[in-house]
Amino acid sequence: MSVRTRLSSLAAAVAPADPESAPNDTRATNEGIAAVGRSFAVPARLRFRCECGHDDCAETIALGVGEYESIRSRGGSVVAPAPGH
Ligand SMILES: [Zn+2]
Repeated sequence: MSVRTRLSSLAAAVAPADPESAPNDTRATNEGIAAVGRSFAVPARLRFRCECGHDDCAETIALGVGEYESIRSRGGSVVAPAPGH
């Protein structure tokens, strides 16, 4: 009984429900993709996630790490050139 209770509370701790963090999660995902790209010796195009902020958006954008960092250095966001953006 007590073991079952502890497992339930642990599951709640590692999987918090926080829909407000979705845009930041997308940014963090893209930062992670860029970090992986920087580790490659040759320039490669990577698939970044659209940062338009719509929960149901599944658009991706192919960018080199340099292009991604150029957008970031201007304070921009990676947003797909698709209708509704
Ligand atoms: Zn989008």
